[in-house]
Amino acid sequence: MPAGVQTEVKAYQLYVNGEWVESASGKTFPVYDPATEEIIAQVPDANADDVNRAVGAARAAFDQGPWSCTTAQERGRVLLRLAEKIRANAAMLAELEARNCGKPIVEAEFDIADVATCFEYYGGLATKILGYVNPVPDNALSLSLKEPVGVAGQIIPWNYPLLMAAWKLAPALAAGCTCILKPAEQTPLTALEMANWLSDVGIPPGVVNIITGFGESCGAPLVKHPDVNKIAFTGSATVGKIIVKQAADTVKRVTLELGGKSPNIFFADADFESAIDGALFGVFINQGEVCSAGSRILVQKPIYKKFIDAMAEKARKIKLGPPLDRETKMGPLVSKEQYERVREYQDLGKKEAKLAFGGGRAEAFEKGFYVEPTIFYDVDNSARIAREEIFGPVAAVIPFDDEKDAVRIANDSPYGLAAAVWTRDIFKAFRAVKQLRAGIVWVNHMQPTYVEAPWGGYKQSGFGRELGPWGIEEYLETKQVHINLNEAPIGWY
Ligand code: NAP
Ligand code: MG
Repeated sequence: MPAGVQTEVKAYQLYVNGEWVESASGKTFPVYDPATEEIIAQVPDANADDVNRAVGAARAAFDQGPWSCTTAQERGRVLLRLAEKIRANAAMLAELEARNCGKPIVEAEFDIADVATCFEYYGGLATKILGYVNPVPDNALSLSLKEPVGVAGQIIPWNYPLLMAAWKLAPALAAGCTCILKPAEQTPLTALEMANWLSDVGIPPGVVNIITGFGESCGAPLVKHPDVNKIAFTGSATVGKIIVKQAADTVKRVTLELGGKSPNIFFADADFESAIDGALFGVFINQGEVCSAGSRILVQKPIYKKFIDAMAEKARKIKLGPPLDRETKMGPLVSKEQYERVREYQDLGKKEAKLAFGGGRAEAFEKGFYVEPTIFYDVDNSARIAREEIFGPVAAVIPFDDEKDAVRIANDSPYGLAAAVWTRDIFKAFRAVKQLRAGIVWVNHMQPTYVEAPWGGYKQSGFGRELGPWGIEEYLETKQVHINLNEAPIGWY
């Protein structure tokens, strides 16, 4: 076992109103290391009572507490100090993230650096929230003021645990909101570790509350709570639809970052070596547990056969291994449930299409939720493996004739999160960019994500945008202010 790996089972508490507390029921649930299948921590099983307590704290902090009187400068500094803490503790956070979700340590290190960058970005943006002067035709001053939306409930998935927390907390705090964060049941540890520093960096009690629990018993009461003004959700489309319905009775603001089945399109004139790399990277990074995974690989017919052979040849060399090994390029899937789900799709794929590589459990490992990188080809776009989000390392390769055909197949999906197009012809690339119905389009690359640029989907991939100035807008209300400059009566009656 590498040095520094903790072996004891650590018990965590909930972080509510600036204090560490047990769950109201006293119940806890285990958190696993998916590489060893061993329990590494116990966390509180929060229920509706805990949600009430956390929402009460967040409401009070927003309505009466010091947070409502902080200046944008102060909020910005708090976020910059939090970023410093993250950077100072990056090695510990990356190791914990890799152990808890199974991602390769090198990828976890990138994630944690991005977490710090996200807090820095919104720390800077806090003082750049601007209103407008509206050019109304009367003798009046018309203003649009930007104000925090209030108490935000934030529900996140397990694939990029602390990064998803940062994408939500950073803009919310910069805007002046207070938050209740519910991490995914599988991966709550790094968010809880971060809570250790919140008070030190100057975040008052109640401003950030972190509650661990399950979707139905902890997430749902948060979504339905009348004192919560906004829900920011990242997760599956199935749960996203439930969230929208649950939020309806209290008419909450909702933003949804859901799944995808993103097309990665390769024209015959693309640089071949870069294309093969891009196809594999697009779908196998983070074991394919990526919302924007390029899981539909569309290849133009003249290079189709050669492309599949080259992909399979290179996939064979992908190094699977323990997450903490620096050579590892693919770790185990996050959980037994996810492993079984991906294994079912691997078996389904064998019925729906032809197998070029993989297709099963990675047999080299006795324990752990390891699956082989898997490539199916001759996949029809109507097949389930081409329509449903698998959220694992399973690629569906689909042939196409020409530009029109590629765009038609690419857009024929209920999802619209991301797309990528590979070609050396800029006319063809830009025509495709304009026609693809997706919130993110990459040209000659797939997956780079920056805090400065918007993130979010079209169609059933959700609504609202995170990151950049768009991310903070989702935590702001717009107040119209009309200041009459005429001293005379209105004179109507
Ligand atoms: P999930 O099952 O939809 O869960 C997401 C979160 O919602 C978890 O915290 C979950 O709690 C909670 N939840 C479940 N049921 C709920 C309910 N009835 N009410 C309120 N909350 C509820 O998704 P996941 O399996 O964790 O993550 C994978 C999914 O996330 C994929 O579909 C992926 O595409 C998507 N994703 C999207 C983006 C993006 O930016 N678009 C980024 C990352 C991931 P539990 O922990 O108890 O399940
Ligand atoms: Mg879940």
